[in-house]
Formats: sequence, C-alpha cells, structure tokens
Amino acid sequence: MTIALHGKGISRGIALGSAHIIQRDSLEVLEYPIAEADLPAELERLSAAVEEAKQSLRAMRERIPAHTPADIASFIDTHLLMLDDPSLTEEPKRLMRQRGCNAEWALKLQRDSIVQVFDGMDDAYLRARRDDVDHVINRVLRILLNQAPARHESADSNLEGLILIADDLSPADALLMQQHGIVGFITEYGGPTSHTAIIARSLGLPGVVGVPHARRYLREGEPLIVDGDEGLVLGDADQRIIEHYRARRDERQKRISRLARLKRALTVTADGVPIELLANVDLESDFELAKSSGARGVGLYRTEFLYMNRMDAPSEDEHFAVYKRLTEAFRQQPVTIRTMDIGADKHVSASVSSRLNAVNPALGMRAVRLGLKEPDLLVPQMRAIIRASALGQVRLMIPMLSHVDEVAQVMLLIREIQREFDRQNIPYDPAMPIGGMLEVPAAVAFADGFARTLDFLSIGTNDLIQYAVAIDRVNEEVSYLYDPLNPGVLRLIEMAIRHADGAACPIAMCGEMAGDVRYTRLLLGLGLRAFSVHPSLLLEVKQAIAETEIAPVKRLVSKALRSTDIARYRDLLASLI
Ligand code: PEP
Ligand code: MG
Repeated sequence: MTIALHGKGISRGIALGSAHIIQRDSLEVLEYPIAEADLPAELERLSAAVEEAKQSLRAMRERIPAHTPADIASFIDTHLLMLDDPSLTEEPKRLMRQRGCNAEWALKLQRDSIVQVFDGMDDAYLRARRDDVDHVINRVLRILLNQAPARHESADSNLEGLILIADDLSPADALLMQQHGIVGFITEYGGPTSHTAIIARSLGLPGVVGVPHARRYLREGEPLIVDGDEGLVLGDADQRIIEHYRARRDERQKRISRLARLKRALTVTADGVPIELLANVDLESDFELAKSSGARGVGLYRTEFLYMNRMDAPSEDEHFAVYKRLTEAFRQQPVTIRTMDIGADKHVSASVSSRLNAVNPALGMRAVRLGLKEPDLLVPQMRAIIRASALGQVRLMIPMLSHVDEVAQVMLLIREIQREFDRQNIPYDPAMPIGGMLEVPAAVAFADGFARTLDFLSIGTNDLIQYAVAIDRVNEEVSYLYDPLNPGVLRLIEMAIRHADGAACPIAMCGEMAGDVRYTRLLLGLGLRAFSVHPSLLLEVKQAIAETEIAPVKRLVSKALRSTDIARYRDLLASLI
C-alpha cells in the first residue's frame, strides 16, 4: 500500500530511488565517575576525539570536487572552527574536573546548555544554527561512543541512486550525498533556512525536511519518491504512481533542456513588450549559476550571507574582494548590491551586533535601521560598494525603507564617503544609481515620494506580504495568511508600480513572487516590467513571459483589482494563474 508523508520541500525537483535509512541519533550517553588518577587520560580521550572529528571533516573537505563553489565548502570550515571553540573544547573539560565525570557526559551537558540558549530564542533561523552545534557535538560523541560511521560517511561505499533518510543531516552530509551520487533525501527535523537546505538547493538535490517519524514509516531498500516541489514523500508506491512521477521527472529534465535554448533569447512578451529579467544571488556560488542561466545582470545580491558564520563583521576589503568578483562575472551588466539586511530572520553572531535580540525582531532593528544606528557595520560595506562602482555597472540598493528620511541619511553617508574618496584619489562612479526596496506598506503608499529621491525601486514581496497582512514570515501557525493573492496585497503591488511609473522611476520585483511562474501573467497584467528571480527559475519565467500577451491580462487584472466580491475576484484570477 502506498504511504504518503508530508514535510517541507526545501529544494525543487523529483527523485526516485531506494531508501537508505541512517540510524544514528540513538546516542545513549551515560554518566559514570572517573577517579582522579584517571582524569588526565579521560581529558586526553576527549581531545583525541575532537581531533579525530576535525580529521574527518578535513578529509571530507579535501574530497570536495574542484567545481564545488568555495562558499559551500566554507560550511565545513564553520564546523571546523566550532571544533576549535573553547565552549566545545575547554568547557567540557572544566565540567569533567568539577564533576569527576566521563567525557561523553560532560560534552552532553555542554550541548544541552548551548541548545537551551538557542531554544529560548524561539526563532526559526536560530534553531537552524542550533542544528550546527548539534551536528558538531554529535560527530564527537559518536567517536567517543565508538559508533560506526554511517555508510555514506565512508569514501568507498556505493550509494548511487539511493535516497537518504535520517533524523537530520549536516551540511557535511549534504556534500557527501553529492559525492556518492545520492539522488534525494528526507529528514525528520530541520527547516528551510538550515545550512543543509541552502547547500542542497545549490547542489540541486531534491529534498523534503520535517517529516516526522520518516524512519519508522519507511523501510530500508523500499522504492521511494521524493517530490521536493510539493514537500511530499511516497513509499511503496504502486507501478502507476511510479510511472507518473518518472514521467514528471523526465518531463522536468526535458523542460530544463528545452528551456536552455532560451538562454540567449531576448526577454519579450508575445506581443513584443521588452521585459528586464535579472537574477537574485545569495551566495557567491550563485554568481556563476546566474551567469550561466543567461541573466542579464543581478537585481538583488543579498549581502547578509557575508556576515554569517563568523564572529565579526567583514572588513571593507573583504566586501570589496567579493564585489569585484561579482563585477567580473557580470561585465557590462548591472549588478544591484543590497546593503546588509541583517536582523529579523537573517541572524548573525551577537558579536557582530548586540542590538538584534528584540522580542519582535521583524518589527525592530534590522536592515537600514540597524545600519544607520551602527554606521560601523554599514559604512565599510558602502565604501566597498562605492569603490566597486569604478569596476562595473554597480547599483546600491537600500533594504526595508519605511521613511524617506532614511534615504536622506544614507545619502549623507554616501556623499561623505565620495568626498573622502575625491580627496584620496580613490576612483568611483559618481553616477552610481542608488535605489531602495519597497517592503513596508507605508513606503509603498509613498512610493512616488521615494521615486523622487531614488534612481530605482524594487518590490520585496517576501517582507511586504508579512507586513501587509501582519504575520511573521517564519511563524508557521499564521503561514496560511501568507498569500500573495490577498486582494489587499495585489492592490499594494499595483500602487507601487503606478506610483513609480508616474514618477518615471524604474521599478522591479525581487521577492519570491517574481520567480513563481504561476504569477508571471498576473504581474505583467499589474504593469511589472522588470523581474529579479533565483537563477534556477529564470528560464521558466522567461518562457512564461514569452507566452503572455499584455493587453488581455491587463484587462483581467484591472477588473479583479476593482472587484470587492471575493468570489468574482478569485474567478478572475483563476483565468490568470
Ligand atoms: C523580500 O523581502 O521580498 C526580499 C527580496 O528580501 P529578503 O527576502 O531578503 O528579505
Ligand atoms: Mg526583504
């Protein structure tokens, strides 16, 4: 009988393969006393286990194929760094001396206390960081407990074509999966913002996370289907279902190859209206992906990833080096560098900024607010962006604007930096466009005012929707309200475009809605003429644009927007999406 399990699809695509279950969370840690005379040997046992864990991570790092982007490998470095941290190396030793207990128990106590701090924060992103602590400590505990490594951890296992099922997977596991030819994965825990999820997406591995009891319901070796688009896992499916998914997987493959032909094509609608199609990039590894997908530039570079996995903020030169590589990847094409949007769901170490622990961070210090409050964080980045403007078509974008006064303050900082560069003969482009993101409803309602002071605007629907319908975008309980088709949300988007058009200010959309092909016709009907989307979605959106005629969709959208009858509104939209 077919069994269907639901979770969260964290990277798109369909995988068919046999189940390979990893049972390794049953780390039974017991406390036992250590006589004082034996304590030095026990302390040494802990040091040796930490060293062995490091060795295995280093070995894994060396096996990473040459073409794997550097920042993916850097997740392994993060775990290596954690193994050097005194809270994992020294604190357990202090506990061992104090309690006269064994190494495993001291390490477990230390893990519990770190995890408790993270848990108290009740935040999806921090929970994901807690996972990193867990992965690292479990690696050491498994060594101390002499637990055999899982099959995928040994270099010579043949796991080609298998689907991995585990309680949780670490970023290191995700890399190993790629090296072993594993085609998909399922985990019982973990969320879409975990490092594992980010890596899986970059590697194009279909995966579903947060499937409770997956290892209990699924059997070793049974045929499985992983639908990363829908967050669905099917076990023991009958032949008809397998055929259906096989056809979908093959169709997807064919579509990807067919779409590849569009890479060089111009982006125009069926009735010849030119559309600007740019890429969103998060990690440096996305630069090449964006380039190879045929993007004509970058509409959003989320620079906050530069601030993550480290104890301090990046220096001006570190920023500059990355932006230089971005301009080199996109010669003669625009690259929009967004100043850091840290805070809320995008966490950095407390040693980077101490202002991020508000009760409701989404409504507190984040993005431009934080940058203006802590210029030490923002100014080195802005200096690097301004320096990079001498190398290519760099555009600077300000996130989370709520008032035009914030634009004026940022402008003051920019002018000051430019004057200093003039004095020091540091080259920059004085005409570098400066834009802002419309993510706060008050900014949308005043978009014409923002358009007067900025060179371009970009609608960030991910945040705009959460602020428009008053929900926290990482709170699962209210996620049912997170609906781009809420009529109030569509009216806000239409208003933003109308205001910007009226002021002759270019406006794009870079939230997830722009990359969802179900909404392409609708957005064209709303008047949107510039889209910035994840590279993996770019060609599908291009195809949808090529199939759309503007006039009829515009008529339908304008009727829908005027309608106050929700049934009629839905009917009208149904013919568009
Ligand atoms: C958005 O809010 O739509 C956006 C693009 O920014 P981010 O997802 O990085 O908050
Ligand atoms: Mg945003």
